[in-house]
Amino acid sequence: MQEHDLSYILNHLGEEDRARHRGAVAPPVYQSAIFAFDSVAAMRRGFADELDQTVYTRGNNPTVEILRKKLAALEGAEDALLFGSGAAAIAAGVLAGLRAGDHVVCVQKPYSWTRTLVRDFLARFGVAHSFVDASDVEQIEAALRENTRLVVLESPNTMTYEQQDLAAVAQLARARGIRTLVDNSYATPLNQNPLALGIDLVAHSATKYLNGHSDVLAGVLCGSKALIREVFQGPYMTLGAMLSPHDAWLMIRGLRTLPLRMRQVAETTARVIEFLKAHPKIEQIWYPHDADYPQAGLSRRQTRGASGLLSFTIRCDTTAAVERFCDALQRVLMTVSWGGYESLLFPVAVVYPPDTRVGQQRPGQVPVNLVRLSVGLEEADSLLADLAQALDRV
Ligand SMILES: *Cc1c(COP(=O)(O)O)cnc(C)c1O
Repeated sequence: MQEHDLSYILNHLGEEDRARHRGAVAPPVYQSAIFAFDSVAAMRRGFADELDQTVYTRGNNPTVEILRKKLAALEGAEDALLFGSGAAAIAAGVLAGLRAGDHVVCVQKPYSWTRTLVRDFLARFGVAHSFVDASDVEQIEAALRENTRLVVLESPNTMTYEQQDLAAVAQLARARGIRTLVDNSYATPLNQNPLALGIDLVAHSATKYLNGHSDVLAGVLCGSKALIREVFQGPYMTLGAMLSPHDAWLMIRGLRTLPLRMRQVAETTARVIEFLKAHPKIEQIWYPHDADYPQAGLSRRQTRGASGLLSFTIRCDTTAAVERFCDALQRVLMTVSWGGYESLLFPVAVVYPPDTRVGQQRPGQVPVNLVRLSVGLEEADSLLADLAQALDRV
């Protein structure tokens, strides 16, 4: 899969020429918007290739370029582009190949802003869509139309972690000249490489595991040189949602420990799952790397290792009990997002009025008594103790 081993990518790739920076081990932040030329001929060469030359930081910047090389290598991609958020990366990948009159097929419960992009934003520009239960490839096939240009996937997806058979979807789409994009934020490039399975574009919210420290918003899009250049000439340069050099520098630092963080998180999450399964106040658990998960076979086939994001429902009559559980947590922080060094919890009850009866969710939505837990780097024992004392309040 990879030309270089993992530690080479994380420690050296893109940083080999340290003599250029007087031996600095950590790369400098090129905090410059613009790059000057000493001749018209040199400037002309810069203009001819704003993706790979340094002209203007909206297009390329040396600090961002280090990160770009590392992320492309991690995904086994020819090239990558960094964005100021995961949402910007997904939007750029989706918008690049579409025009009025086209049709898009998308997984039925994608990340919320991916749903808004496909359902509301694209509609304003004359692009139609179908949301399908993509855990079944036949449903994707049935939704394809003459004018379908793109299939948008997210595997595992947000909140309930349904997966798509990426190789099967890629094969189906390729045969008809339809482009595929997958949001690979959950698995990370360590555990799943969709490009190797035939997917065209891979997007990540790098805000989550890749950066891993809850201090930077970033996104990345990976693909072939030709596709990345198409995205660059289109939405990347026109919308200008690039990553700042300083945030790229922080991300390079966060990325160095990705394998260590993922290993620890997978180990602790196994303990958390074991604890939740045995707890009488837990109704159902969603975790794609648990043997009891309906698509556990696909997880084993398609991914190399586990992540630390899971969901569970609490056995109760109304969301008041969920609120008591959440409010009682001492170590786990209640917030949006996931994938940080600290354990994070998101209760679905927050988008419903207080004291909503269990089962009252809107059609197609996840249960009102579901909470999502992102396991962090705390000792397993303190995390379990915190969950146990909070569950006592239910
Ligand atoms: C958070 C998230 C996004 C959006 O990423 P941002 O960095 O917040 O813009 C996209 N997809 C998934 C699965 C996410 O969890």
